[in-house]
Parts: sequence; C-alpha cells; structure tokens
Amino acid sequence: MIETRKITAEDLVENPVIAAMSEYNHEQLLFCNDNATGLKAIIAVHNTTLGPALGGTRMWMYNNEIEALNDVLRLSRGMTYKNSISGLNLGGGKAVIIGDSKTMKSEALFRRFGKFVNSLAGKYITAEDVGISPLDMTWVNMETDHVAGLPGKSGDPSPITALGTYVGMKACAKKQFGNDSLAGKKVAVQGVGHVGEYLVKHLCEENAEVYISDIDQDLLKRVSNEHGAKVVGLDEIYDIDMDIYAPCALGATVNDDTLSRLKCSIIAGSANNQLADEVKHGQAVLDKGMIYAPDFVVNAGGVINVYAEVTNNTPAWALQKAEGIYDTVHQIIQRSSDENTPAYAIANKIAEERIEAVGKVKLPF
Ligand code: NAD
Repeated sequence: MIETRKITAEDLVENPVIAAMSEYNHEQLLFCNDNATGLKAIIAVHNTTLGPALGGTRMWMYNNEIEALNDVLRLSRGMTYKNSISGLNLGGGKAVIIGDSKTMKSEALFRRFGKFVNSLAGKYITAEDVGISPLDMTWVNMETDHVAGLPGKSGDPSPITALGTYVGMKACAKKQFGNDSLAGKKVAVQGVGHVGEYLVKHLCEENAEVYISDIDQDLLKRVSNEHGAKVVGLDEIYDIDMDIYAPCALGATVNDDTLSRLKCSIIAGSANNQLADEVKHGQAVLDKGMIYAPDFVVNAGGVINVYAEVTNNTPAWALQKAEGIYDTVHQIIQRSSDENTPAYAIANKIAEERIEAVGKVKLPF
C-alpha cells in the first residue's frame, strides 16, 4: 500500500515531530501519557477532508517511540487512501498503544485512552486493530462515543473483507482471461485465517482449484477437509503452477525472490502491504504482464462494515458496497493498462483525486 519514508532517529534530532508530520501532510498528532494506568499512545489524524478520521487502534510492543511514530503515521495515511477509494465519507486516522497486549491491558488503561479519543471531539473514530479485542473497545466506549466495532454491532469484518477480495479477484480475471469465472482456475491462498477461509469457501463453491498454505497445521487440515482445497508447503506455494496468487497472511510477499518464482498472472489477496517495495515491485508486476489488485482496495470490506455501523446503514448496504469493489478494481486495472502505469499508482491517484474534488465542494460559501 502507500509507501511512506521511515522517520529515523537522526531526522528527529534535526527535525522535530511537526516536520515528520509535514512530510505526508498529517493534520494532527495526539501524544497520550498516563503514569497511573501505564498508557502510552499516539493518535494520528492524517486527513479529514472527506469526514472524521476512522482507523483502528493497534496495541504493540514497539522497540522505541520512533517505531511507534512511524507506524501510526504510515497506517493513518493508508486509511485516508483506503477510505477515499472506497467512496466513504471518512478521513484517515489510526492510533497505537505502546505496550504488550498480553500483559498490559486493563479497564483503566482503555478508559483513559477513551478519554483521549473523546478529547478529539469526533475528529477521530477508533476501532479494533492488531492486539485489540471487542472487550477492550467496550472499555474505550465507556468514555467516548467515537468507537466502532463494538460487540453486538457490525460484528466480525472478515466475511465482508473476503467478499471484497473475491469480487476484486473476479474483476482481475475478467481483464486477464476475458470473463470473470474462476471455475477451473488454480488459486493459491496463503493463510487461511479469518479472511482466508471465507475466501477459500467462495472459490471452492465456484469450482476453482484451490491450494492453501498456513503455519497452523490443524487449521490447514480443517479448512482443507471442509472446503476441498489442496494443502501445499509454506515455501512451495510460490512455485506451484497457478493462475492467481492470493496473499491473505503476511505483507511483503511480493518481492524480488517471489517475483522470480510466481507463475500466476493475477495477484489479489487481503493482506496489507503486499508489495515489499511499492514502486519497484509495482512496476515489476506490470512489466511481467501480471495484474495486481491493490491491497487497500480489495481488503476494504472491513472498513466498509465499520462505516455501516457508524452511519447506521444496514448489513445489506455494506454487502452491496463491498460488491462494488468489483467495479473499482475494474476501473483501476483498465486505467493501469491504458496509461501503462502500475495499478497501485492508479489507485493512489484515484484516492487523491476524490479528496481534491470533495475538498472543493467543502469550501465555505
Ligand atoms: P488471521 O490472523 O486470522 O489469519 C492469518 C493467517 O495467516 C493465520 O491463520 C496464520 O496462521 C497464517 N499465517 C501466518 N504466517 C503465515 C505464513 N508464513 N504462511 C502461511 N500462512 C501464514 O488474519 P485475518 O484477519 O484473516 O487477516 C488476513 C490478512 O488480511 C492480514 O494481513 C490482515 O491485515 C488483512 N486484513 C484483514 C481484514 C479483516 O477484516 N480481518 C481487513 C483488512 C485486511
């Protein structure tokens, strides 16, 4: 997804934090500290042109503050692009809590964090991300209404994320093979966790020939038995004869090594940051005649689900919106081939164009 230059310790010696923010035009950073609860967090609001900045809170044991700062700057900017290209009236934001999610959680810490979220008065809406559970969010919700992804509300985003990935894959198939049927196509799904398994289900139901890998052997066996997918090795997955590679586990699996091995003509999966180096590998994929469905476009089902919750839209609306990922991907890959420009760059451009256009609408009379 969007490449963001990493801020180094040297940068921060020479340039204070505002310079780091101005590199990608972040609007606001809120540093949160509370000795009593042990809360150390950063909330980043990247851009609110389209609406309040929505993005999850990640709890992670960062090695240092620079790592946390880089992560929150990069992730919040990514949310601006994802929300924009998905046609949502949302800006981009993200929060990171610095700490071990296994040992440092408490009601008090999350309520204190909720007070900080509330102090932004709706400019930032939080939700779950890595290391955060629905229970944690109920604590945050005790102090602020600006929370989504609560238990009993929009629920598990994975099925709708898988649906978006599946229809995005079909749009790529239409361009590459002349029709969007995946029947008989060899699809390799890396990672059969929450999203991967639902994707496998769609593919098997359409009679695709599905190959799966996962580090969790029990899960792998169950998914294979339940849906009729064939198991392949963790490294073997890059070498098998396949039409479509669907990364649904890790980032950066499209890299120098794997690109010399992958025989597919489509890459479409739910994992974030699939291109190890966006510029280099985005171009390499294009040069090889492969179609790449930009990750932040096809995996937007989750945020669409959350958006439905905050705007009181129905689950049916969210499903229909996620199905629209087909048309968005179609538009991107058509422009990518017309302009001979990598798909990720076209997706970025479309997201930026919408922000610019809507920014004009929002000018005061
Ligand atoms: P998950 O943790 O449920 O599943 C990931 C699976 O990948 C796990 O089963 C894990 O064992 C497996 N895995 C880890 N390393 C692997 C490797 N080297 N090879 C093969 N498998 C490996 O996560 P998820 O919610 O299914 O999300 C999958 C991806 O999609 C992640 O990159 C996530 O950031 C992204 N994503 C998810 C959502 C969502 O709605 N859940 C939304 C947007 C993006």
